[in-house]
Amino acid sequence: MAQINENYLKLAAGYLFPEIGRRVNAFAQANPEKRVIRMGIGDVTQPLTPAVIKAFHEGVEEMAHPATFKGYGPELGYAFLRTVIAEKAFASRGAHVSPDDIFISDGSKCDTGNIQEIFGSNSRIAICDPVYPVYADTTVMSGKTGNMMGNGYYDGIIYMPCTAENHFIPELPDEVPDLIFLCYPNNPTGTVATKDELKKWVDYALEHKSVILFDAAYEAFIRDPEIPHSIYEIENAEKVAIEFRSLSKTAGFTGTRLAYTIIPSALMGYDSQGNAIPVKKLWDRRHSTKFNGVSYPVQKAAAAVFSEEGQKETQAVIDYYMENAAIIKKSLTTLGYEVYGGENAPYIWTGTPGGMKSWEFFDLLLTRANVVGTPGSGFGPAGEGYFRFSAFADRENVLEAMERIKTV
Ligand SMILES: *Cc1c(COP(=O)(O)O)cnc(C)c1O
Repeated sequence: MAQINENYLKLAAGYLFPEIGRRVNAFAQANPEKRVIRMGIGDVTQPLTPAVIKAFHEGVEEMAHPATFKGYGPELGYAFLRTVIAEKAFASRGAHVSPDDIFISDGSKCDTGNIQEIFGSNSRIAICDPVYPVYADTTVMSGKTGNMMGNGYYDGIIYMPCTAENHFIPELPDEVPDLIFLCYPNNPTGTVATKDELKKWVDYALEHKSVILFDAAYEAFIRDPEIPHSIYEIENAEKVAIEFRSLSKTAGFTGTRLAYTIIPSALMGYDSQGNAIPVKKLWDRRHSTKFNGVSYPVQKAAAAVFSEEGQKETQAVIDYYMENAAIIKKSLTTLGYEVYGGENAPYIWTGTPGGMKSWEFFDLLLTRANVVGTPGSGFGPAGEGYFRFSAFADRENVLEAMERIKTV
């Protein structure tokens, strides 16, 4: 008899985005004459830039000829890509990352989920609340939790509330975690962490031999020169932190797929006897056993993101989204909403008017303004009473959505 992994049955039904889709479709069917503007799901709207497309085409063309055709590539990624990443994404910011510590993959979603596999099944996990749902759900799937409790928390996860009171930066938890998920610039709150705040976490992890899982998917949206883009800008972080990067939001690769994860050689985990073991070795083993690499043309296209032309073009697209963010932030502030984020991240996090529940405000906005956002409570209990607007939209739609919201 095939027994299922019962951890999956613990997962709370109805992932956030399907529920949004269900409500939007029901509304659209009942009101076919209304044009709904979607500012909910965090997916990019602008195409790949010309330099990236050119390299992508060249990569495809190489696959067409015997002399340049490529079969399986290196499991960990082509050296040409790892080298350019080390130089352009890290060295240029004073963060030393060796190309040998960079693992190319097809997504940070999978990497942030799969990483738990190389740590002990008794590991205690700390996550922020609200949070990118992947961290909690994959912790549940891997059997490190009990059931969901009445307060919306899974038994066994250490939750760190992030609210306006602590400026959306969690306090050090009372109970010491083995693994700590941090995401800055943050999805969903759009807030950032300063060097001092990250240093506090690095020192804590050093003291407790914990590992920080740092998701930097939105680093390219940082405008403030004082805000770190990488956790490796913090001294000693290479001993305690894994960093996840993705070209999804940065360069419009959500449908093309390329991400990279850094596991420094100096990062140690411990066996049951307390012996230090380099974590990188385990991920290397896992990656080369379960993954066969990202396609060659995609890696060519990714390398072009880091070329001079690619950087310029990509920056222009990011500027476009960040102008959207500024428009949204200004409009909502003028209307009297409590507004956070949107300055160094493509997300704007607002308090709902009059203390309304997040889903209540979702329905109101959908029916009155035909605008779709994301209910904060979908990201965790501490997100209740908040709402997320995404700056990934066409300018026209942003402007019209902000006009319509005035009437809500
Ligand atoms: C979008 C996003 C990612 C990127 O995931 P990919 O699988 O690389 O597309 C990672 N982390 C967060 C928090 C995100 O919002």
